[in-house]
Amino acid sequence: SQSTPALEIQDLKKEYEDVTALDGVSLTVPEGSFFGLLGPNGAGKTTFINILVGLVRKSGGTARVFGHDVEADYQDARNAIGLAPQEFNVDRFFPIREVLEHKAGYHGIPADEARERADEVLKQVGIYDKRDTRFDWLSGGMKRRFLLARALITDPDLLILDEPSAGVDVQLRRDLWDLVTELNEQGTTILLTTHYIEEAERLCDEVAILDSGSVRAVATPEELKGRGADRIVVELRD
Ligand code: ATP
Repeated sequence: SQSTPALEIQDLKKEYEDVTALDGVSLTVPEGSFFGLLGPNGAGKTTFINILVGLVRKSGGTARVFGHDVEADYQDARNAIGLAPQEFNVDRFFPIREVLEHKAGYHGIPADEARERADEVLKQVGIYDKRDTRFDWLSGGMKRRFLLARALITDPDLLILDEPSAGVDVQLRRDLWDLVTELNEQGTTILLTTHYIEEAERLCDEVAILDSGSVRAVATPEELKGRGADRIVVELRD
């Protein structure tokens, strides 16, 4: 049977004052897939994600999340997404478990379940023993783990990971990769942005190469290699 795609993007455009960040992007991300968005700095990856979660208003085109238009049907679209962002935009003054309970409550999860759910995701990402610690007092790696826990608190159908491997050590990268692979195997659709072809090869079923706001190719990581994408890859590396 034909299921609704996790993402249906048609001719998506974004113009900031004098910069064209997205120049007509069209993409379909099937439900259940592990999809990579690969591109150099400034390609438009963060803009793309910000449009999906309602942080940036598109200039043109359409974007649907499990059939919900990101603007006309914002709440349903947003509720389907868990975002682990690049930036550490977290409430720093409360114990991290409280921050998670708060977020759960905000999304309509009752208080007793919220505590349980918070504990569950803290265990899942391996920082349960830090539950009473403030975000500020976590190490960089633990902060990354926490951002993933926060993205998972609502049990999203689409998990978006914005450059999860930027600046993390080998052990954490391995842990994160194992965890997201498991989530994908359990049915969560994943959209991951990265600069690293190795990461895409290891994790993704399908990859779109974004460059200067345009999709240059959509293929499996293997197909990209077969097309001599090692050259592209070198160009994409920072
Ligand atoms: P990175 O890998 O460095 O995070 P990216 O692929 O996420 O890059 P974006 O952050 O989406 O790329 O930026 C795409 C383009 O849009 C860049 O040229 C950037 O300078 C520009 N841009 C992004 N946000 C704004 C803004 N708020 N105002 C003006 N220009 C912006």
